[in-house]
Amino acid sequence: MPELPEVEVIRQGLAPRLVGRRFLAVHKGEKKLRRESSLLRLQRLVVGRRLTALKRRGKYLLFQLEGGATLVIHLGMTGRLLLWRATLVPLADGQVEDSGHKGCEPSPPFSLRAVEMAAAADDVELHKFLFPHVHLRFQVEGDFWLLYQDVRRFGQVLACAPGEVPEALGRMGREPFSRRVKPEWLLEMGRRRKCPLKNFLLDGRTITGIGNIYASEIMFAAQLSPTLPVSRLTLRDWQRIIMATRRILRLAIRRGGTTVNDYLNCEGKAGLFQFELMVYGRAGEPCKKCGALIERLVQAGRSTFYCPWCQKNQAIND
Ligand SMILES: [Zn+2]
Repeated sequence: MPELPEVEVIRQGLAPRLVGRRFLAVHKGEKKLRRESSLLRLQRLVVGRRLTALKRRGKYLLFQLEGGATLVIHLGMTGRLLLWRATLVPLADGQVEDSGHKGCEPSPPFSLRAVEMAAAADDVELHKFLFPHVHLRFQVEGDFWLLYQDVRRFGQVLACAPGEVPEALGRMGREPFSRRVKPEWLLEMGRRRKCPLKNFLLDGRTITGIGNIYASEIMFAAQLSPTLPVSRLTLRDWQRIIMATRRILRLAIRRGGTTVNDYLNCEGKAGLFQFELMVYGRAGEPCKKCGALIERLVQAGRSTFYCPWCQKNQAIND
């Protein structure tokens, strides 16, 4: 599932290529995403408008359009945004000839010529054959196609009128890199809650963007137990959490995100941070720091990975 670093990597990949360009057309598949605007609404609010900025809030991408409308995209569990240039020439073996897009594995299972053919053909059966799991295709000025692919369809694609804010953005926590995220503030927020640290980090209402993978990594880096009740964390513990969160998220962005299942960037390439994971997915393997075996437990229905030695409940003195 894409978390903050993966969404940020996609934003950084798309922004220099798309900002300043106009959306020319949108095509939509039959199957529905978890939440989506109608084709008519997408055409009315997005098509014909120039992209003025591409921003990120938590795990949401905000395509800000001239005139004030916003295209809001959340990748859900398996969503991908892939960018293709219409000037690419498909080769005989199905690969695409271009320095940036060649040989990425796994690559989208269609060529750009196929995209163009299907767009022109407007044939439902042909669409389904050529675009497995591609639910939306935006044609962008400059011979670009922005494709939204989502196997499990938990994603969201919403066209918002000027001034309109999706509900989820209204109740979202603070950005981990925000100066407003301070140990004193977290201490205050933590005192009101009884939940374990892991659940607090995942929930997104206080700090946004941290998902299951990075929550485990952050707690390991901060040397705090995932089961520690947040009401018992000290100012120093929160300071460690903030430092660990920013360091790990920054590094993950630099490494192009983490690919454990589906995540690919906008060029169809996998991230590299999975090679730097200290605990996530490593149950039964030795801790890279102390050699103790990494353990797994289930919290709020999700796996947590931790080192029982490095992450003893150091916050508690009793
Ligand atoms: Zn350890």
